[in-house]
Amino acid sequence: MDNKAFFKLSYGLFVVTAREDGKDNGCITNTVMQLTTTPNRISLAVNKANYTHGMIQRTGRFNVSILSESATFETFKHWGFQSGKDVDKAAGITFSRSDNGIIYVTEGVNAVLSAKVESMVDLGTHTLFIAEVTDAESLNDTPSATYAYYHKNIKPAPERPKKKGWVCTICGYIYEGEELPPDFICPLCKHPASDFKPIEA
Ligand code: FE
Repeated sequence: MDNKAFFKLSYGLFVVTAREDGKDNGCITNTVMQLTTTPNRISLAVNKANYTHGMIQRTGRFNVSILSESATFETFKHWGFQSGKDVDKAAGITFSRSDNGIIYVTEGVNAVLSAKVESMVDLGTHTLFIAEVTDAESLNDTPSATYAYYHKNIKPAPERPKKKGWVCTICGYIYEGEELPPDFICPLCKHPASDFKPIEA
């Protein structure tokens, strides 16, 4: 099997937010897609290790902020490279709240969807949420950021170190050393060793 084929799939990028017991939280995902139009229904796959996962599972509600090409790397670091277990992700950012009470991101975002979970499919590492869209708003006409656009234009270009090492293809973190341990986890974005590639000399 050629795993490179999976990189050719196209994806959007989203901040998925939830609210439970007065606590706001969210995470970055690339797994939102529309399933049907009558009713408007979307699917969302979330890794069970994400704090947001349990919040959606228990409350059955979430918002999707669709990231645009004006999103900055700061947005990705804020929502993607730290956990709601450790920090209050609603602190220090600009957001609004939709009618369902859940926050959505207003900077670097071109539209927001509010969704109510209809069913869940246990996929082992992830849960697939199938949800009806209860509200939708377009905020501006900046093009949506694709995963490819993020890699090409938003993620900072890694500095070229003199040492041998491995670079995280998700966030640009550099591991110095000849061999990357197979169980290595990126300290910045928590992606596994399989998302690292050797630095070309
Ligand atoms: Fe990383």
